[in-house]
Amino acid sequence: MAEPEESVFDRYRDRVDRPIRRLFRVYGVPEWPYFAAGMVANVVARVASLLPPVVLGAAIDSVFTGDAPFDLPLLPASLFPNTEVAQFELSVALIAGSFVVTAVFTYLYGVAANLFAHRVMHDVRTDSFAKMQGLDMSFFDDKQTGEVMSVLNNDASNLEVFLDDALQNSARLVVMVAGITVVLVSENWQLAVVTLSAIPLMFLLTRWFMVRAAPRYERQRAAVGNLNTRLENSLAGVELVKSSAAEDHETGRVTDASYRFFQDTMDVLRLSYVYRPGMELLAGLSFAVTFAVGGYWLLYGAPLFLTGTLSPGAFVTFIFLTQRFVTPLAEVSNIVDQYENAKASSARVFGLMDIPAGVEDADGATELTGVDGRVEYDDVTFSYDDEETVIDGVSFEANPGDTVALVGPTGAGKSTLCKLLLRLYDVDGSHPSARQTESDDVNDGAVRVDGHDVRDVTLDSLREHVGYVSQDTYLFDGTIAENVAYGEFDATREAVIEAAKAADAHEFVAALPDGYDTEVGERGVKLSGGQRQRIAIARAILADPEILVFDEATSDVDTETERRIQESLDDLADDRTAVVIAHRLSTVRTADQILVVEDGRIVERGTHDALLAREGRYADLWSVQTSTLDG
Ligand code: ADP
Repeated sequence: MAEPEESVFDRYRDRVDRPIRRLFRVYGVPEWPYFAAGMVANVVARVASLLPPVVLGAAIDSVFTGDAPFDLPLLPASLFPNTEVAQFELSVALIAGSFVVTAVFTYLYGVAANLFAHRVMHDVRTDSFAKMQGLDMSFFDDKQTGEVMSVLNNDASNLEVFLDDALQNSARLVVMVAGITVVLVSENWQLAVVTLSAIPLMFLLTRWFMVRAAPRYERQRAAVGNLNTRLENSLAGVELVKSSAAEDHETGRVTDASYRFFQDTMDVLRLSYVYRPGMELLAGLSFAVTFAVGGYWLLYGAPLFLTGTLSPGAFVTFIFLTQRFVTPLAEVSNIVDQYENAKASSARVFGLMDIPAGVEDADGATELTGVDGRVEYDDVTFSYDDEETVIDGVSFEANPGDTVALVGPTGAGKSTLCKLLLRLYDVDGSHPSARQTESDDVNDGAVRVDGHDVRDVTLDSLREHVGYVSQDTYLFDGTIAENVAYGEFDATREAVIEAAKAADAHEFVAALPDGYDTEVGERGVKLSGGQRQRIAIARAILADPEILVFDEATSDVDTETERRIQESLDDLADDRTAVVIAHRLSTVRTADQILVVEDGRIVERGTHDALLAREGRYADLWSVQTSTLDG
């Protein structure tokens, strides 16, 4: 299989600099109180959790076995009572108290840390969605919806895991290692050296693991991405899959992708089978050595090159704390993996955010108001990919109220012409205002409404005045009424019904059991093509634009429905400017102007009668269509 071409998405992703740092700067900083509270609570909870073994050690030495003064690391002995009873009571209170403090602060830390992570994620998700919606159509033409979905889903959850677990686990790791080290060293620095010598070994083992795991994690990430793309594609194309009886083929492809993911996951896991027990073994050995050296010391005095004394209490503290290393350290590999994941994911998130919007409001764009409906194409040239010219020097004008029909073969550029009017794409060439000098004059023309270049007015106001009924009418999952009122969200029920009547949709809607409250199903699948079309027309009628663009798609409806749609359209177009793409020439006989488009150029123009009289391309098309109809 050929490597897919690098998309605009990949390009911007690769350019993102230090994504994690940017994540914190852009999204973390505004939420810093939660972050700070979470970190502080975490530290307090962890430190408190270290206290019981220490207090126990102090109590053993002062209360149970000897008459040493009660003392805790880092605190002066004069702070503590000197009767055994009081020391015992204090120990009980401290031990119980530290469990309570640990519980309370673990709770607080959970709340704060989760709030931090999820608030950040909420912002990231909504921002990337808003950003994505603002991108121009050419971004979506490259079929990147699947990829965008995976940014909004997978990448967002990777970041969540990182912000939630990885950050807190690393904080815990630092606090535990530092805290235990401080305690052990202050209890007995010589035994601490013996015990802590396991830590460098643990780090070495972790490094060994990470170096080997990194490429495997990388492969696993690629495999899961691949699997998701596969699943998305197969589901999106389910109709084709079924109609081609290709279920087995699709299942096979998903099985392959899933099996690769399985293998790559096992590859990672095989390493961790060695790593985790390895860490535990090291911790266990450190425990055994501490027990042996400390025990010998207590029984027979300082062994080997060690000097001084070891108290039984300190010995107990050592025994307890030695066991606390393992869990936080064993998390290191997870933390690193989550960090790598998050780095890749935030690069994708910011890659998306960095893509320039393309078609957007110009600086100082004005509102288009009080529209008469005059449309003008002035020497318009356009290509989708800067290579193949799709529209080539097209000029025409439509006066307010006129109907202009575009006819011609498939692929001639008719839809493209219409999309330029709505600014779904921009005409080629620099906008006049962006031109620096007179000689910088690469003028590829302009589309104008009432004399205003469409690039000079705001997108919102332009689209408010230019209605668009496209060839593939899209309905949202929701009710018929909601779909008619899409874009005019506060329209009354009366207005919706009025519009539906005008679009000849009222009759069939009223006949449905739930009428206007009928759910149309995903993308409107529960309605027929003709019904969807009429809902879309009703939507355009309700929006009441001065200019209407209609990409006629009546081929999938019966002749009677077509006639009725045609009538409602004629009504609709009556007092507004209409640009209509007609596949059946019979529907545009009355147009004020018919443009025959071929290969992105207007090859003929005129009224129906004038064009017939010319006996050119239009007359040919007409005779082909009428003879098929007759035959
Ligand atoms: P028509 O409406 O006359 O059938 P179109 O305007 O849809 O023609 O298409 C004109 C040409 O532009 C065709 O060659 C088509 O393949 C190409 N084209 C249409 N849409 C896109 C797009 N989104 N990206 C790239 N090329 C496109």
